[in-house]
Amino acid sequence: MRILPVLINLKTPALRGKSAGNDGEKGAHPVYATLETPDSTQISTITRALSELDKVEFLPNDLIYVKNLGANPPFNNGHEAVEWIKNSGAKILYADFSNPKVHACLNYDKDKGTMIFINSNYKDKCSHSDVLAISEAIFHECGHGKDQDSENSIQEELNCLSLNVLAHRFYEKKYPKVFDNQNSFLYSEGVSLYPKLFFSFYKNALKQRIADKYGYLQSGDSKHPATKIADEIKDIYQSATFV
Ligand SMILES: [Zn+2]
Repeated sequence: MRILPVLINLKTPALRGKSAGNDGEKGAHPVYATLETPDSTQISTITRALSELDKVEFLPNDLIYVKNLGANPPFNNGHEAVEWIKNSGAKILYADFSNPKVHACLNYDKDKGTMIFINSNYKDKCSHSDVLAISEAIFHECGHGKDQDSENSIQEELNCLSLNVLAHRFYEKKYPKVFDNQNSFLYSEGVSLYPKLFFSFYKNALKQRIADKYGYLQSGDSKHPATKIADEIKDIYQSATFV
């Protein structure tokens, strides 16, 4: 049942920033979301996802690696994010997005609080791997929500993407083969993509991907000062745009 149309102009995985872009296109096309009342299956999926997230621990070497890369994870483990959801009163809902490529997004309103929306295309996904993937998407959005502002930057995205990556690699270790043969959009353009890019030897593909998706954003912001890689990503975006 549709309950409320919402204009999303904040932070989403596929399009970011105060003026949301259509899949990274410089904020020209805001994204609309129509909320859906979750049914019992969907509530169960979200509950299972939070239960998995609650147990996520970062693998020590992975954490060192992503920090060296220039990403600073906003949480130290999944439990902190679940606590943040409880304490902030953030709501997790499914929504139809005007841009179907958006996996999830976050709407922060000073008065109404924080809402995390999951693409309703995933509402019937409830296999174990789907639950894990959805928990990663929630983790990412919690990272955005934690700072309680609507400002975004390449650096903030990097930080939040590192949450996905760290959780994903934890799950791969905890549940070997759980992501094998999962090739749908949620995986190929989402949860399985960034771990590959972050941990590839050369970082060119990672930088290019983030430049394509988020290059229009400022490299850093007041709460997330840009590291070298964020500046490099901005440079890639600018040279592609202005040459
Ligand atoms: Zn994001």
